[in-house]
Amino acid sequence: MNQQPYAEPWRVKMVEPLKILSKAERETKIKAAEYNLFNLAAEDVYIDLLTDSGTGAMSDRQWSALMQGDESYAGSRSFIEMKKTIQELLGFEYVLPTHQGRAAENVLFSALIKPQDIIPGNAHFDTTKGHIEFRQATAVDCTVDEATDMNLELPFKGNVDLTKLEACIAKYGVEKIPFVILTITCNTGGGQPVSMANIKAVSAICKEHKIPMIFDAARFAENAYFIKTREQGYQQHSIKEIVREMFSYADGMTMSAKKDAIINIGGFIALRDRELYRACSTFNIMFEGYLTYGGMSGRDMAALAAGLREGTEFEYLQARIAQVKYLGDEISKLGIQIVKPAGGHAIYVDALSFFPQIEQKQYPAQVLGVALYVEAGVRGVEIGTVMADRDPKTREERLPKMELLRLAIPRRVYTNNHMDVVAWGLKQIWEKRESYKGLKIKYEAPIMRHFTATFEQL
Ligand SMILES: *Cc1c(COP(=O)(O)O)cnc(C)c1O
Repeated sequence: MNQQPYAEPWRVKMVEPLKILSKAERETKIKAAEYNLFNLAAEDVYIDLLTDSGTGAMSDRQWSALMQGDESYAGSRSFIEMKKTIQELLGFEYVLPTHQGRAAENVLFSALIKPQDIIPGNAHFDTTKGHIEFRQATAVDCTVDEATDMNLELPFKGNVDLTKLEACIAKYGVEKIPFVILTITCNTGGGQPVSMANIKAVSAICKEHKIPMIFDAARFAENAYFIKTREQGYQQHSIKEIVREMFSYADGMTMSAKKDAIINIGGFIALRDRELYRACSTFNIMFEGYLTYGGMSGRDMAALAAGLREGTEFEYLQARIAQVKYLGDEISKLGIQIVKPAGGHAIYVDALSFFPQIEQKQYPAQVLGVALYVEAGVRGVEIGTVMADRDPKTREERLPKMELLRLAIPRRVYTNNHMDVVAWGLKQIWEKRESYKGLKIKYEAPIMRHFTATFEQL
């Protein structure tokens, strides 16, 4: 075949040098960090795959938008520009800026959730669940069962099981359900997308029961890319057309702009209903800031607008998702189990099959994360028992079906040479996998413990 090789649709204009510590130095650092990767100084990390949140590389267009930001307290031109972009791309009339995604949750949920409420959805993200449980309400996971079978190569493993959703509504009643939240793509479930057909079907059920449907839209553009490349009937549609259709089924959304808007900080709420917008406005002013900046600077809102446009370009999404798949393929070739198919923003390595000798209550995915840092200076994050936290009522540890190390790839930051180092690091651990032992928690916070927990080696 004489096909032209694939390469990224951008070139590098500025570089950031990285420090590479020795393995012995890294052993000292992780011990001092009490085996929590969040406690490491970023400088001591070579390849940082802790998160794809706020870690992307902005474009020259975004950097120049920063210079033109309008820092007016009220009515900033940058806010108006951001709002117009959201109205045009996503189709919502009302926009409230917030300092990040969880702040959007805090504001919207303050207006909507009462104690004892039930919030059905597809594997709620940890901060979403935190904000629900903090209000003495309950998140009910209605994701399809296939999502927990990591070998099933299905195109839309983020989908909602409609039978589970119907059963949840029947069991608790509409009065208890202020909204349904659909996470696109589904982060907790492995960066797996939700199909347009499923979005439509969930929306129809919600309409039938007059329950609002809200998107947790952090990675909506990656979700649209998967619809275009995997779902019948969408190949000829542009990403922007698909995005418009996806959002047409929703009543509102929360957004962490640190993901698919490719900025370092920011978020927003977008809504159709004026009354709900007004209710949220009060909380936005109390918690975030005035309605036209809500915790963001004018320049950040300007960069957000530019980032939303770039983040919904097909060529950009193709490069990004191809890199995630590249890492997944390199790891799979070693015989190491990952969640399949590769997600939109991250590769998830199965720690239970990696370390069968370590029981789940000794945090095998945390052990793998620590080992990968020591071997190759790569930082991932545990998505397993530590993150699953304790049941708010019984205080028992919740053991999730999957125990994963997530390797999230920042947007436009690393090359595939870096991905090769990540796979090499995992290979080093794989070859001596029987020699690893578990961890024990020394300290944990009452909620969202994974950020601050400390550990000791068994
Ligand atoms: C990141 C994220 C959030 C929270 O956003 P922050 O900007 O980190 O506060 C909520 N939901 C999903 C799906 C996310 O990925």
